[in-house]
Order: sequence, then C-alpha cells, then structure tokens
Amino acid sequence: MPVGTQATVKGLSQRDLWDELGARIILGNTYHLFLRPGHELIRNLGGLHRFMSWPGALLTDSGGYQVFSLSGLRKITDEGVTFQSHLNGDTHKFTPASTVDVQVALGSDIMMVLDECPEYPVSHEYARVSMARTVRWAGEAFTHYRQWMDASPTRNALFPIVQGSMFPDLRRECTRHLLELDADGYAIGGLSVGEPRPLSLEMVEASEPDLPRDRPRYAMGVGMPNELAEYVARGIDMMDCVLPTRNARNGWLFTSEGKVVIKHARYRDDPGPLDPACGCYTCRNYSRAYLRHLFQAGEILFASLATRHNVQRYLDIMREIRESILAGEFPRYLDTLRRGIE
Ligand SMILES: [Zn+2]
Repeated sequence: MPVGTQATVKGLSQRDLWDELGARIILGNTYHLFLRPGHELIRNLGGLHRFMSWPGALLTDSGGYQVFSLSGLRKITDEGVTFQSHLNGDTHKFTPASTVDVQVALGSDIMMVLDECPEYPVSHEYARVSMARTVRWAGEAFTHYRQWMDASPTRNALFPIVQGSMFPDLRRECTRHLLELDADGYAIGGLSVGEPRPLSLEMVEASEPDLPRDRPRYAMGVGMPNELAEYVARGIDMMDCVLPTRNARNGWLFTSEGKVVIKHARYRDDPGPLDPACGCYTCRNYSRAYLRHLFQAGEILFASLATRHNVQRYLDIMREIRESILAGEFPRYLDTLRRGIE
C-alpha cells in the first residue's frame, strides 16, 4: 500500500496511481489530516475519497504512531494520549473512541485502533504495561465502533494492532486478547522502530499462528523490497512503507537488479533505462543519464518520475508473489530470492 500521508502520495497524481500503476488501496495518516486540514472539513467536503478524488480503498492509521514519533510534549494516561501539534504547539487529545470518530469522519475503509507503539528497546516490564494498555484501548475502540456500525449504512472495517515490543510471549498474549474482538482483520504494529531486521520477522512469527487464517493480516511499516516475500511467507497479506516514495525523492531507486543511487557519477552518460525489466512510464521513456541530470538539478520532475518507478517496483513484486502463490510456486520463488541475496 503506497503511503499518502497528507491525502497525497507525494509526487503522484491519483490518475498515476490508479490508471497507470494499478494501486487499489493507499494509506492516509489520521494524525496529519486531523491537524491539517481537519477531519471536520474533510467530512463536510464529502470525506477523504471525494476530497482527494481517489476511486480506490483507503486505510487510515489511528494517529498513535505519529503522536509517539512526531509530536512535542505528550502524556500517556489510561484514557488516551495528550500531545502538542508539531505544526503550532496546540494541545490535543486522542482517545480510543475519538480516533475512531476522526477516521469515520474521513470515511476510511479500513480504520485502525489507537495503540501505544513503544520505542526500541524497552524493558519487558514496560512492554507488558504498554501492551495491556493497547489491549484495553482496542476494547474501548471496538465498543465505540460497534455502536456506530449499528447505526451506519456503510461497512467500514476496524483492525486492532498486536503490540508487545520485541518479546514473543507478550506478542502471543496480546494476540490472544485481541482475538476476542472478532475483528475483520488484524495488524501487527511496533515494527521498524530501530530493531534489527531478523527481530521484526521473529515478532511476526510470534503473532501469526494465532491470527485467524480467513482474515487479512497487516504488517505495519515494512519493508525493503527483498523482505516483502519473507513477510508473505510468514502469513502477511498487507504491508505499507514509506521507503519506495521517500527513497525515490532522495534518489535511491529500487530495480529488479538491485538498488540504483542515481547521483553516482557512473550514470552521468548512461543511456539505458533505469530498470530494463520495468514497464513503468519512467523506464519506458527516460535514460539514467536524464534522471541523474534532473536529480542533480533539483528538478521536481525527478521526484515524480522516481516515485512512479519505485511504487511500480513494489507493486510488481507483490504481483509476482501473488502469481507465484496462485501457480503453487511460491516456495520456489522464495528459494530463488533467498539464493539471490546470499
Ligand atoms: Zn520503472
């Protein structure tokens, strides 16, 4: 799922995403949209789909992660989290119920519960207290959500989030509690917070066996291109990551032959496409030399062309994975991938 933090995937139009790249679901960030332009304004303009003219599905996070990573002073209580806006210092409060209300106002198709995402590393004791709070908040969010759903003609999903820092026992305990909510899908959060990569996969392994097989599982905030199949191998269906878009803007491009850091002098007069195996608009029409020139000159077209390619690369990898699963060849696909990395 490409990340559209501020109701836009930076550098791409909705036509690029939908028609050309074939994206069908993107993310919006509740924290950012709550602060600016405000969820009430978006509701009054017909919801986020209409506001940004997006024909596909939208998933919104609860804002919790950004509160913990971006905002200034913040205070966590059992009720929720009070924080200062990173834009102007205003004080706001998120509770499990209020973040559902904000996401309902946005008209999100898949909403996330408010959770606490602890930094890395934390003690087992802190992680346990924090995990218990996340479980309690998920219960409160679901109570509020079910009341709203009973009165609503639409069907929007709410996913709880498995936490527990890097402790398998806490991950398992959290998962078991959240199962009682009988949710439409489950997310695994608290990953990509600075832990070594193998540990992220281990935490998914700890949570996954207990999650219902017939519901989507969403690993939040992962991963590098060669990790996507590893998450799928561990039962993950959905992922989001800012890497393809953020790295694109920094000139770091993912290709079928590995990464290309476009500023390197070796691409100065390289007439070839960025990725000969890629069918995106950028690769069909422009040389590495031209892309490098745009990057060096600080031209905004670079961000657009680079983002288009990186998003295509991620979506292509997921298409390859889906096709290999349907053909019964995923184990071989994974094996080839692992050999290539060694
Ligand atoms: Zn391309």
